[in-house]
Amino acid sequence: MQRPIEPFRIKMVEPLKMIGRQERDQIIRDAGFNIFKISAESVFIDLLTDSGTSAMSDYQWAGLMTGDESYAQCRNFFHLQETVQDITGFDHLIPTHQGRAAESILFSTILKEGDCVPNNIHFDTTRANVEYRRAEALNTVIDEAYDPESEVPFKGNIDLEKLESAIKQYGADRIPVVMVTVTNNSGGGQPVSMENIRRTKELCRKYDIMFFFDACRFAENCYFIKQREKGYQDKSIKVIAQEMFSYADGCTMSAKKDGLVNIGGFIALRDEDLARRLKNLLILTEGFPTYGGLAGRDLEAMSRGLEEVLQEDYLHYRIQQTAYLGWLLDQAGIPVMKPFGGHAIYVDAKKLVTHIPQSQFPGQALTVALYREGGVRAVEVGNMMFASRHTETGEWIYPDLDLVRLAIPRRVYTASHLEYAADALVRIKENIDALKGLKIIYEPPFLRHFTAILSEIG
Ligand SMILES: *Cc1c(COP(=O)(O)O)cnc(C)c1O
Repeated sequence: MQRPIEPFRIKMVEPLKMIGRQERDQIIRDAGFNIFKISAESVFIDLLTDSGTSAMSDYQWAGLMTGDESYAQCRNFFHLQETVQDITGFDHLIPTHQGRAAESILFSTILKEGDCVPNNIHFDTTRANVEYRRAEALNTVIDEAYDPESEVPFKGNIDLEKLESAIKQYGADRIPVVMVTVTNNSGGGQPVSMENIRRTKELCRKYDIMFFFDACRFAENCYFIKQREKGYQDKSIKVIAQEMFSYADGCTMSAKKDGLVNIGGFIALRDEDLARRLKNLLILTEGFPTYGGLAGRDLEAMSRGLEEVLQEDYLHYRIQQTAYLGWLLDQAGIPVMKPFGGHAIYVDAKKLVTHIPQSQFPGQALTVALYREGGVRAVEVGNMMFASRHTETGEWIYPDLDLVRLAIPRRVYTASHLEYAADALVRIKENIDALKGLKIIYEPPFLRHFTAILSEIG
């Protein structure tokens, strides 16, 4: 595979500290074998998340200086509104400080107890915000999404039969909105096809239900459509995005992904009356409707990021870079989920680390090894994150997959950095039997992966 070429040159650098192996060993022990507790300065290559970790361009940094910090009606709001209207066609823009604030405001306004919100797969914060309103967050993705071996091109698609039977079961009046997450983050950053979006819209129209995108990675999704779906090869990313949003009534957005900024988000929508109701809550929790918890300069950086993310050179590099890391690992015989998603590569730890039973956290053991071996930080998405106890027997129920996610920040690392990370994994594979299982010494009652303390077995 061709080495991806970065379509930018480097104007400012942030030095990375390469610390010795012995020191790393001490650091991971002191962190209780939990990579969330390692100070970021002790990490050489940080692949923990692609959220809020993007590098801004000179155009965005210059935009910060044009920030209008007036309380009401600042000029950067109007610039952002124009940009969002141009891409989405949605008239009403409601800025928020990040994606989950947008979700909270939307769901607090439209959901009531006992409602249901279908999605391909709900992202954690989306699910939590739906459930907090005592409504059900239902996943209706196609079955192939759960099969790491399946190589269908649009693995994030909605299963339209599942969706329609949910609508019939709940009744349309108990489903205030159907959402589609592009790309499908929790399903490995897999795209949704335009055809599937169109048919989802038709179903929503038939039952008179609102249709929203969780649009965090909309540009990456559009790039996949251009690459993989018939009839889109000659269209620009912006035209594809405009068509995609034309089918929806609105979206929630975390600009920490395809907004190419470190903080920011929004809701955009068509319905004026709903926009008014959302703004009432926004004023209470986030701020005045033209700044929504952000500084004027942040709105400007977001606006410029949304323009830049549509550039095809950028998207080509972005998707290519992720695929390159996947390819390097695949070539070396490391089991990875396919097809490669937009923002991350997932290593199948259960397949790679066969000598550690799932009860001893093979995925977590691999993240520990990655830090020890190369100062690379990745995150376990498996037993540590998702295991639950059976409500009656109290026995552990482990998730089907035990994955390690290598998420790629946007415009931050070069091809050499990725090769370095891949090499570290290859060296680990060559000596895989040296990995030790882990046991939990302390765990909090929920979201244990963030703060748990572990120790090595044997
Ligand atoms: C990140 C993310 C969110 C939440 O956004 P935050 O900015 O982290 O609050 C919601 N949905 C998806 C699909 C995401 O990836």
